[in-house]
Amino acid sequence: MELIIRNARLPDSPAGAPDIDIGIEGGRIVALAPGLPAAAAEFDAGGRLVCAGFIETHIHLDKSCIIGRCAPEIGREVAAVPRVAAVKPGFTVADVTERAARTLRKCIAHGTTRMRTHVEVDPAIGLRGFDGVRAAAAAHAWAIDVEICVFPQEGLTGAPEVEALMVAALRNGASVVGAAPGYDADPAGQIRRVFALARAFDADIDMHLDLGDSAEHMDIHLVAELTEQYRLGGRVAVGHVTKLSRLPPPRLREIGRRLADVGVAVTVLPATDLFLMGRDQDHDVRRGVVDANALTEMGVNCSISTNNVLNPFTPYGDCSLLRMANLHANVLQVSQPARLHDCFDMLTARPARLMNLADYGIAVGNPADLVVLDAADPVQAVAEIAHPLAAFKRGRRSLTRAAAVLHPPDD
Ligand SMILES: [Zn+2]
Repeated sequence: MELIIRNARLPDSPAGAPDIDIGIEGGRIVALAPGLPAAAAEFDAGGRLVCAGFIETHIHLDKSCIIGRCAPEIGREVAAVPRVAAVKPGFTVADVTERAARTLRKCIAHGTTRMRTHVEVDPAIGLRGFDGVRAAAAAHAWAIDVEICVFPQEGLTGAPEVEALMVAALRNGASVVGAAPGYDADPAGQIRRVFALARAFDADIDMHLDLGDSAEHMDIHLVAELTEQYRLGGRVAVGHVTKLSRLPPPRLREIGRRLADVGVAVTVLPATDLFLMGRDQDHDVRRGVVDANALTEMGVNCSISTNNVLNPFTPYGDCSLLRMANLHANVLQVSQPARLHDCFDMLTARPARLMNLADYGIAVGNPADLVVLDAADPVQAVAEIAHPLAAFKRGRRSLTRAAAVLHPPDD
């Protein structure tokens, strides 16, 4: 064995169970048992929580870290798409690569080892965003696997050049088809085109969907219908769906059960949704974050993700997924330990299912993508936004983060 991580608490360890040693060889987990007798290089987790690396299912590397070059918000009007569109023509491949790399390194520093990034194409940006993100991903493959979802942020129907760009990206390494029908003159038309593209390329689908302040005109019904019609259950995800947050429980349950039945997953993006929703109000502002815990309890697969970092859609971001889970729990008033544990699962096992990752998790045979958290269990990790102290990608140490040391005067 090349490495043994000793004395690990696993996320689903029953209370009182002994700590586990994780044996690693050839980048993979080869043994899991208390007190492994083998000799090898060692990392002592000291009874801390060791989990499979976090998974970001929805982030925008290409337009991260641009808040300093965008026009400021006027009043309560966000106008995020036009403010980004105004600076996009200035994006070069090198510029996108540099900003994407900066964001990737923050994700790595917070324990993320796998990612689906959305990358936009349109006539102004062409494939420069795509090329820049690919370069940044290749340069950080030692720490994180990046999957690209290509999507039309500024409209697809009636723009054959945009579809040509999506096809070019899908032929050159993008493996998921995305969408933003809310910004298309013909939302239903875009959704149908995206399903057609996904079928042509045998690709999964991940859409921005139903981002809005009222529950009217929801596209989720068409997405459910097409998922069922084309038997794509388990291969379709939708992000935001803030309109669902406006529904009373019986209506939400109806839609939740339908999504569970047809196999459409939901990604909740609390930082962006809190920032963008309720802009028509000047006090008592609604939160606009759909309840991922309620949806999972209806049988829907959910993930919690970062989405935008330091741009007009979300002018914040440390790329900590644990902070996103904590934010979701805080906003949705989640306190029961089992539900906080489920928030943790929405950064790990659930997004693995959403992305159809067959080799994810702490099990013999899987890649040793592991994170050591300064917490005893998933509930504490979410409640306290625990720091990752170390991460391993395919068994190789990819992160060290020293625990804080206090210096009292008599120290
Ligand atoms: Zn997004």
